[in-house]
Amino acid sequence: MEVSDNLLVLLSNPQLLPELKDIAEKVLHNQRITFDEGVLLYEKAELGYLGVLANYIREQKHGDKTYFNRNFHIEPTNLCVYDCKFCSYSRLIKQRADGWEYTMDEMLDIVKKYDDQPVTEVHIVGGVLPQYDVPFYAELFSRIKAHRPDLHVKALTPVEYHYIFKKAKMDYATGMKLMKEAGLESMPGGGAEIFHPEIREQIAKDKCTGEQWLAIHEEWHKLGMRSNATMLYGHIEKYHHRVDHMEQLRQLQDKTGGFQTFIPLKFRNQDNQMSNVPESTVVEDLRNYAIARIYLDNFDHVKAYWAMISRTTAQLSLNFGVDDIDGTLDDTTKIYSMAGAEEQKPAMSTKELVELIKNAGRYPIERDTLYNVVTDYNDYQFAEAEKPRFYKLPVIN
Ligand code: SF4
Repeated sequence: MEVSDNLLVLLSNPQLLPELKDIAEKVLHNQRITFDEGVLLYEKAELGYLGVLANYIREQKHGDKTYFNRNFHIEPTNLCVYDCKFCSYSRLIKQRADGWEYTMDEMLDIVKKYDDQPVTEVHIVGGVLPQYDVPFYAELFSRIKAHRPDLHVKALTPVEYHYIFKKAKMDYATGMKLMKEAGLESMPGGGAEIFHPEIREQIAKDKCTGEQWLAIHEEWHKLGMRSNATMLYGHIEKYHHRVDHMEQLRQLQDKTGGFQTFIPLKFRNQDNQMSNVPESTVVEDLRNYAIARIYLDNFDHVKAYWAMISRTTAQLSLNFGVDDIDGTLDDTTKIYSMAGAEEQKPAMSTKELVELIKNAGRYPIERDTLYNVVTDYNDYQFAEAEKPRFYKLPVIN
């Protein structure tokens, strides 16, 4: 059965609410849905309906292709001058003994550990501390590029950039240009949380505002560069806050076209100041992926972090609009495990990740950061793992 057949079957269902039918017609005809329709999807649409629409869009854009990349993370510190209520990761400066603060040389040693490995990207993001300033990061990026020019540097969010540029009395345009010249090649999507001030002021009031987050990405896009965007969902926000968040991203994307990927981030409630807030269900996670895929018609990709939502939910998400699963990781990030994710030591070999995607009926493609194909794994044969050898032992009677 063609994927569009599923949509036609859905449209012929006499039980379908007329307003949901209108949205399905829009998706079939490649038309954008409105803010109110986005809220309506959250309020009224069932998982099966959302899956049909999101999967239709996903397969129109990518067929069965499912992307992943081989990366490792550097988290410079887990101490932070800010105090976001949902953050399980930051140890406030008063708890300094529980934290780590890598020096430049320690970070370069992490990069060197991967010298003989076929990783294509280093993802650098962590807490905010005064010693990590503009000169520090400019030197770090340039030394990474000098050491390994083919390694793509994807680093820091507007939370860090806003802080370090303000300290350096530098405007965003000047600062981002300087970072590009130092070796920065793209920006991850973090720090977005929920843009709407009603929520942002309750969960992350000290750090950059939603407008500032968007303005820094805009400056970066103006330099011809790419970035990603996230949304932290499933805590105290209402559905209209989620749609407002995606609406602001959609508008900036119309203007610049610089975003590659949207990544919904599930709120986890372990060991943070919002531990009383229950976590979203898997059904809600899948609904959220699907609505994001429907709403963000000008984003090429929707990504799931398997380390955050578990391997099985990541497989399921591939039928709800997701076309990218991040990444091999190699146990280099603590952000998810410290927030209570099931994966306490997140690492998957390339073979495991390829099998996870194939077992979900999809077509695995290793990509670089900018979605150029590195290896097509659909018909790829992995070398047989060496079998354990058995030795005949002398039998002693
Ligand atoms: S979410 Fe980021 S900015 Fe906020 S406290 Fe945690 S590390 Fe700091």
